Amino acid sequence: MNKTKIIATIGPSCSDINILQEMVNSGVGTFRINMSHGDSESKKQLFDLVKSVKHPEGGRPAILADLCGPKIRIINISDKFDLQDGDSVVISNKEGSGDIFVTSSISLSNVITGSKILINDGKVQLEVDEVIDGNSLRCKTLIGGEIQKGKGVNFPGVSLGVPALTDQDKEDLKLALNEESDWIALSFVRNASDIDGVHEIMDSFNVRLPVMAKIEKWEALEDLVNITDAFDGLMVARGDLGVEIPSGKVPAAQKEIIGLASRSGKPVVIATQLLESMIDSHTPTRAEVSDISNSVFDGVDCLMVTGETAMGKYPVEVIKTLNQVIKETEGSKITNKNKLPDGVSKTADAISHAVCQIAEDLKIKVIMTMTHSGSTARMISSYRPQSSVYALTPFSKIVRQLQLVWGVQSMKVDNYDNVDNIPRLCNKILKHIEAIDPNEQFVITGGVPMGIAGTTNYLSIQIYN
Ligand code: PGA
Ligand code: MN
Repeated sequence: MNKTKIIATIGPSCSDINILQEMVNSGVGTFRINMSHGDSESKKQLFDLVKSVKHPEGGRPAILADLCGPKIRIINISDKFDLQDGDSVVISNKEGSGDIFVTSSISLSNVITGSKILINDGKVQLEVDEVIDGNSLRCKTLIGGEIQKGKGVNFPGVSLGVPALTDQDKEDLKLALNEESDWIALSFVRNASDIDGVHEIMDSFNVRLPVMAKIEKWEALEDLVNITDAFDGLMVARGDLGVEIPSGKVPAAQKEIIGLASRSGKPVVIATQLLESMIDSHTPTRAEVSDISNSVFDGVDCLMVTGETAMGKYPVEVIKTLNQVIKETEGSKITNKNKLPDGVSKTADAISHAVCQIAEDLKIKVIMTMTHSGSTARMISSYRPQSSVYALTPFSKIVRQLQLVWGVQSMKVDNYDNVDNIPRLCNKILKHIEAIDPNEQFVITGGVPMGIAGTTNYLSIQIYN
C-alpha cells in the first residue's frame, strides 16, 4: 500500500464504469470532478458514475468537487482568431465592443499601460498599449497564435476586482453538497477570506466539508500563511500558477507551499502536467518520472492528474505509471525519515509525535487511530511515520475524506463510545487485515472522550492476540 495518494480527474476519456473501476483498482482513491465543464445534468451524471465505483477496501472512492472560481475566459471573438506578432487588438469586458470579449464580471480598472495579458496558458502574449476606458484595452501582440472562445485569460501582477465565488460556483457548490461530495476545491484563491462564501453556503446546508485552496494566483503567494490557516488543504495548481508567475518560479513556490502545509499538518496536492506526455503516449518522459518522484521525496499527500485521465488516450496506464513510480520511490532508502516536530506545544501534537516516536523506537508496524472527525489520523500522518497508519471511524464520509491524506488507510467500524472497548475492536480489525502476527505490539491513539475533533490525548501500546 503506497503512502502517497492519487487523485484522478474524470473526463470524457474515463467516463465509463469499467475504466473508473480499473483506475481505482490501480491506485486512485479520489476522483476530481472539474465543475468548470458541462451543465448541471452532465455534472450530476459524473457524481452518479463515481458513486457506483467500488473501493477495494469498502465503500466508494472519494469525490473532490473542484469549483471553477473567478477564472477569466474569452467569451467571444470578432474575427481575429489567429493573431500575428505586432497585431493590434482591443480586449473588452463589454459585449459588442472590441475584438476580444472577456468575462464581464471583472473590473479592468487596475490595468495600466505596459501590463501583460496572457491567453491560452500563456501561449499568446499581449501588452497593453492604451487604456481606452474602464472596459476596453488596446493591446499589441507580443507573441501571436490562435485564440479560441473559452480559453483562459491571465493578467499577471494585476488585481482584478472579481468575487471569490461566482454565481456558477454557488450553484456548483450546492450541487456538490447535494451529490455527497467529500472535499471541495476552490480555484483562483487570492486570500484567506475567500473561504467565507463557501462556508456560508455549507452552513445553510448544515454541513462543513473540508475545503482545499488551489494556489494558482500570484496574490495567493503573498497570503500563503493565512490561506494555509483558513483552508483545510492546499493544491499547487501548476497550470495556471505557471502563467500567473514566471514558470521558473513555480518549483520554488511548490516547495514553499509543501513546507507550509507540512508544518500545519494539512494535506497538500501537486497537480498538473505530472504525466502530460502520456496524453498521447504509452510511456512517460524521464523528466516526468523524476518530477513525480521528487514530490514523493518531499512528502506530499497526493499527486493529481488532470488532462492525462480526463482527455488522454491511456487513463489506466497513467494511474499504473504513477502507482509504480510512487512505489519505487517510497521503497528507496532515501525516504525513510520521519518529519521533525516544529515546536510541539499542544497535547494533540505531543501525543501524535510520541506515538510516531514509540512506533519507531519499538519497531511497531501498525498505528491504529480512532477518529470521529479524521483529525487524529491527520495528526499522526503529519509526522510521516514509517509504520502503517489505520484510521478507524464510524463514518463513511470520514473514511473517504481521509483518502487524500498521506499514509492513512481508513476503514469504517461500528460506533464505539467506550474507551475500554477499543483494544478489542482493534484486535478484530487486525485479524481482518493481517498486518501483523499474533503477539506483536501495536499502538492505539485517539481522543477521549470520543467524538470531539482535535482532542488527541490517548496513547496505548497493546499486544495483538
Ligand atoms: P485547472 O487547475 O485544471 O482547474 O485549471 C489546475 C491548474 O491550474 O494547474
Ligand atoms: Mn487552474
